[in-house]
Amino acid sequence: MSEYLIDIQGLYKHFPVQRGLLGAFRGAGKEVVRAVDGIDIRLTKGEILALVGESGSGKTTSALCAAGLIPATKGRILLEGRDVLEMIRNRRQRKALRRIAQVIFQDPYESLNPRQTVFDAVAEPLEVHGLVASQEEKRRRVAEALDAAGLKTPESYFNRYPQELSGGQRQRVVIASALVIQPKLIVADEPVSMLDVSIRAEILNLLRSMRDSRGITVLYITHDLATAAFIADRVAVMYLGVIVEIGKATRVLGNPVHPYTKALMSVIPVPNPRRRRKRIILKGETPSPIHVPKGCRFHPRCPVAFERCSFEEPALREIEPGHFAACWLEEVSGSI
Ligand code: SF4
Repeated sequence: MSEYLIDIQGLYKHFPVQRGLLGAFRGAGKEVVRAVDGIDIRLTKGEILALVGESGSGKTTSALCAAGLIPATKGRILLEGRDVLEMIRNRRQRKALRRIAQVIFQDPYESLNPRQTVFDAVAEPLEVHGLVASQEEKRRRVAEALDAAGLKTPESYFNRYPQELSGGQRQRVVIASALVIQPKLIVADEPVSMLDVSIRAEILNLLRSMRDSRGITVLYITHDLATAAFIADRVAVMYLGVIVEIGKATRVLGNPVHPYTKALMSVIPVPNPRRRRKRIILKGETPSPIHVPKGCRFHPRCPVAFERCSFEEPALREIEPGHFAACWLEEVSGSI
């Protein structure tokens, strides 16, 4: 069996542009949003990889494809060696896929049904997957999952409704309903961005302890490099549908080499004034993923772009063992 829990190979996800009847006559129907434009990611068992980028970078779309919630346009995703696209097409295999890969969304308010008690919300996946033989076993497993998600004296939460809980408690209930069926992969899409700063670290520590105690692999999606640094073993930085830098979190965030990663890191607040970096303010907005710039797709905003960047797209190159970046400067100078 593969050493990788998930192996994403040449993943593309394009969405056709809908522009109404007039647009269709003018040929706009042929345009596509190139949300994900050819990425490769491999996660070993028990690894936490943070996929970071601004809005529109393709990180969430990549994660939804990885979890089998939307089909890829092109490419292969192998989960424990099994083809996710084939699993989506087959009803029984789709169910098996949901058991292996669970998704935690950003908004715990939206994820929970306000008319469902905490007990019912966490018990539901057990029932869907036929994993319990008796009411007693169901109560035990729900209590275990709530406890593992940090809701101590779990029985006291059984009959409560989402609106009676704080944001952090709701996200813990969402995590418990993912944990209860013992998944191998958790895709966590901005799981702390809607929570108070005071409880973000608690939820991130919880995700990390799930990996440590249960060997769960975590694909953590975020726009926030500070939380990525806190939780991830490796970081992949996405820009306009592609990965521009990937490697160990300590190297990518501690010593970024791609100009885009450098710019993102430069605006993170640092408490120690002596360690503050010079802020790099990027010009303009991220271009439309419908009209991706030729050459390096970052070149219209790159502060150090040169001629070659405007017509030839760089591929990821290994800068040091396990650390890759896509930038021509690396080839020119040997180090960016
Ligand atoms: Fe900037 Fe050129 Fe490197 Fe792209 S290839 S990041 S435009 S220097």
